[in-house]
Order: sequence, then C-alpha cells, then structure tokens
Amino acid sequence: MKGRWKKFLSYYTNYKVLFFKDMFCAMVSAAITLVYPMITRYITGTILNQPKIDYSKIYLLGLFMLCLIVVEYFCNYFIGYLGHVMGVYMERDLRNELFSHYQKLSFRFYDEQNTGQLMSRLTNDLFSLTELYHHGPEDIVISIIKFIGAFILLSYINVKLTLILFAILPFMFLFAWYYNKKMKTAFKRNKERIGDINERIEDNLSGIRVVKSFANEDQELERFDKQNGHYVSAKKNSYYYMGRYNAGLTSFTSLITVSVIFFGTLFISYGSINVADLIAFLLYVTNLIDPVKKLLNFTEQFQEGVTGFERFMEILEIEPDIQDTKNAVVLQHVEGNVMFDHVSFRYNEQTPYVLNNINLDVKPGEYIAFVGSSGVGKTTICSLIPRFYEATKGNVLIDGINVKEIKQQSLRENIGIVQQDVYLFTGTIMDNIRYGNLEASDEEVIEAAKKANAHDFIMELEEGYDTDCGQRGVKLSGGQKQRISIARVFLKNPPILIFDEATSALDNESESIVQESLEKLSQDRTTFVIAHRLSTIKNAKHICVLTENGIEEQGNHEELMKLNGNYARLYNMQFKGEK
Ligand code: ADP
Ligand code: MG
Repeated sequence: MKGRWKKFLSYYTNYKVLFFKDMFCAMVSAAITLVYPMITRYITGTILNQPKIDYSKIYLLGLFMLCLIVVEYFCNYFIGYLGHVMGVYMERDLRNELFSHYQKLSFRFYDEQNTGQLMSRLTNDLFSLTELYHHGPEDIVISIIKFIGAFILLSYINVKLTLILFAILPFMFLFAWYYNKKMKTAFKRNKERIGDINERIEDNLSGIRVVKSFANEDQELERFDKQNGHYVSAKKNSYYYMGRYNAGLTSFTSLITVSVIFFGTLFISYGSINVADLIAFLLYVTNLIDPVKKLLNFTEQFQEGVTGFERFMEILEIEPDIQDTKNAVVLQHVEGNVMFDHVSFRYNEQTPYVLNNINLDVKPGEYIAFVGSSGVGKTTICSLIPRFYEATKGNVLIDGINVKEIKQQSLRENIGIVQQDVYLFTGTIMDNIRYGNLEASDEEVIEAAKKANAHDFIMELEEGYDTDCGQRGVKLSGGQKQRISIARVFLKNPPILIFDEATSALDNESESIVQESLEKLSQDRTTFVIAHRLSTIKNAKHICVLTENGIEEQGNHEELMKLNGNYARLYNMQFKGEK
C-alpha cells in the first residue's frame, strides 16, 4: 500500500513547477476572497463613521479591490486552464504507461481478460484519476484556507455570532454529505442502466437479421421497453436525491443567512456588534458554501480516483509471464531449423497437458504438416515456436538456440504466421500490407501483393491500394483478406512460416488461389502447416498425426495410408464426405 502511494505521488514529479504554481494560485485566490468582506467592513464601519468622510480613502480601497479582482481573475484562470493541462499531461503519462504495459503482456493475460474492461481502464478509470490529481490538492487547499481564514476573521469580529454560524455548518455538511452520496450512487446506477441499454441495442442490431428471420421484433421491443423502464426508474431515483440535495443546500444557506441577520440584529441592539460587522458576516456566509461543496466533491473524487488508481495498478503490477532474459540474443542469420525437444505443455496448472512429449527435428526449408482432430493441440504446438506460450517441460530450439534465450522481437521477426482469422487494421490496404515491414516502399508493398495474388483484385477496387479496409471500410471477401495477410508475410520475408488453417474458412475457388500463394510463400522456408482439409497437405513430405498422446504417426501421405491408422481413418472419412 505504501508503495502504491509513492507511485501515486510520483506522477507529479514531472510537473512540479506547474503543481506549485497551481497551489500558489489556489492559495492566493482563496485568500483574496477573504479580503473583500474585511475591506467592506472597514469602509462601512470605520470610514463612514468618521465625522468627515475621507473619500480619497474609499476610492483608493475601491481601486485596490479592483486590482484584487484582476489578480483573482488570473489565479482562477491559471487554475482552470493550466491546472487542467497539468491533469491532462499526467493522464497522458498514465495512459502511455498502461498502454505500453498492455503491449508487453503475453497471450496468457489476454486469454483471461475482457477487451471492454481493458479499454475502460485506459479511458474512464484514468479520467477519474486525473480529476483527483488536479482538483484534489487544489480543493483541499482552497477549502482549508477559506474555512480557517473565515473562522479566524469572524471570531475576531464577534465570537458569539461565529459560534452560532459554525454550529449550523456541521449539520449542513452532514446533510449535504448524505444526499450527495445517495445522489452519486443513484447516478452510478443510471450509468449501469445506460450500459444495459447500449448492450441491448448492440445485441439487437448485430443480430437484426436473426431477429427478422425469426419474426421476433415484438418480443425484442418488449425486452427493450423493459430495459428502458429500468432506466427511467433509475433516473427518477437520482433526480429525487438531486432535488433533495439542491433544495437542502439552498435552505441551509438561507437558514445560516437568516440566523446571522436575526442574531446579528439582536446583538446590534445590545451594542456588541455594529452594522458593518453584520455586513461582513453576511458576505462570509456565501463564502462558506463553496468550500463545503468543494470538500464533498473531494471525498467523492478521492474515492473514485483511488479506485481508478487501484485498477490501474492492478494491471501495471502484473508481470508479463514471458520476458526476455538478461542475456537474450538477437538472431543473426536464421537457417530455419526448428526442434521440439521432449516438449510437454499445459495452459495452466489446473488443466491437463495438451501436448505430451513432442519430439521433432524440422530441417531448414522443410514443409511439415500437422493433422489431427479438433482440439488436439495443433494450434498450441505452433504457438510455442514464436514463444506466445512457454513449453511447460522440454525446449523449443531454433537453429539450436533455445527460444527462451532469444529476444522476443528478434524471434518473432523471423516467423511469419497466416491464420484462419485475418485482422485488418483501420487504414488503407497499403498500410495493412506494410504492417509486415514498416520500412517497405510502396513498390515493395505492391511487389508483395503481386506475389500473394492480391494485386489484381486490389487494382479492381475503386481506390486501389488506398482503399480503407478497417471496420468501417470496404467489405473484402475472406479470400481477399487472406491474400492481404499473405502479402504482409511476403513483405516480412521470414525464414520460418506457420499456416494455421489458413484456407479452412474459404470456399473452394478462393481456397485454390490462396493455396497457390501460400505455396509460393513457403518456397525455401521452413513451413508448418495445419490444415483441416487433408487434400491441401497431401503433397507434404512430412505429415505428423497428433493425438492426445503426442505424435502418433509420421511420414508422407503414402506411408501413412499404408499404416492404416489414424491418418488413414481421417482421410477416408473426409474422402467419403467430399464425395
Ligand atoms: P487444435 O488447434 O488442434 O484444434 P488447440 O491447440 O487450439 O487445438 O487446443 C488444444 C486444447 O487446448 C483444447 O482442449 C483447447 O480447449 C485448449 N486451449 C486452447 N487454447 C487455450 C487457451 N488459450 N487457454 C486454455 N486452454 C486452451
Ligand atoms: Mg487450431
């Protein structure tokens, strides 16, 4: 906990100057508000009571107050503008730090996390935190100065009246604290209800074709209306408390004002106070409401900010479970030899082993296929090569070097992966292919697209390589997307390749085009192929049949058929199916 506080405060270090300027301005502005009533009291009480009124003094004091107003203006301007700017700088630092940590965390982390949650940690949570960073110290300083200052000055004018005033304040504070809390809880519930509505809408619109095909519009409307009803009652609840809160604060302010006037006039009649004192008192009353609100604001900001910071630290404190070792090496020239040495693997300690004692020695340039029923661990075995996960037992070696000893970046630079699902980023086709090698020129990108059989279809698009292909971009077919992803890998030009069901989701026609570009890509590179349709790997020289017990059969198609084991069974099953 102590470490976390240290960390919390450490974000101020880069902005010390801004922070102290901000604090200074907050103090000055709070102090100035305390001065006006005193000057007013001096004018009404002292100057006006002289037998001969000294107007020059009044003008001078008027001018002085004008100057104070100007100073106050600049202080408030500084707090409002540069104070917030400091908050934003800090928010940027926090966000960059967390985002950079996200980039470091490994697959295992993302297996367990929900993207929406991770996003909100980077946005909403941080926002509440920066509000605290910026307003927290400022609000406290302003409130304390205003409270203590007013208390001292008022006691100096009249102790009894001060005590009456400060006797009411705690009740006001308690009242405001209670309803403020209720109100904020209610507002939080509103947000949740809005979240529910959003989720409903998204679910409905994403599945609108299903809704229509089942003619379930009425039922959907009914469900939606119910959710909307929940929203209305949540809102009603929050307005109830908001109404109470605002009305209560106004009434308390009036109560304090009226009490001051009532007791003040009584005291005037006893002669223990004069009109000028009463005016000063009344002016301070309005001054006291502001710090009450600020303090309430602070308690709430503090809670939210601390929660935000805890959620921030929770992730930041997670060590990536795959890290470069101190002496990790950078691969120089990779031949492409990949060896599995007694490799066993399980995803976590609670689940059984997915891979058992895998031994394989794949020579540079070899084309090797993994087959086996779904869920047997084909994807898993391939994800150990780029060290997305780490072998639980045994080692994976590239050109004789253990992958654990290689810098992750260098390791992954040498491996190209083509998967069933292709992710295209927001941006143009050109950008997306260039993702394979950010330094590539336009010509090199086009060359890669040509090799991947993608150039022709890209040129047929209205905007060619400038076509936007993100979420909101043009709709590309599965085969087209796949060819873009293959072009990426051509551009990357790695010595080791993994094709994980790259053609499984495609129709026969695009499959053969994609297959052709995959074969071109795999020339002279060590290639691991996982294919659902055995026809696509029939020509592989080396086929491994994976089962729960490890690699049960190995060889080429003819040899495996002769064995008449698992492979033959799978093959015959598909062959029959395809007929
Ligand atoms: P295949 O590619 O042969 O269909 P996978 O390698 O994807 O099989 O999965 C092998 C086994 O590991 C399956 O039982 C699957 O449920 C499990 N598995 C796959 N990915 C994960 C993961 N990220 N976390 C936990 N278990 C997983
Ligand atoms: Mg798989």
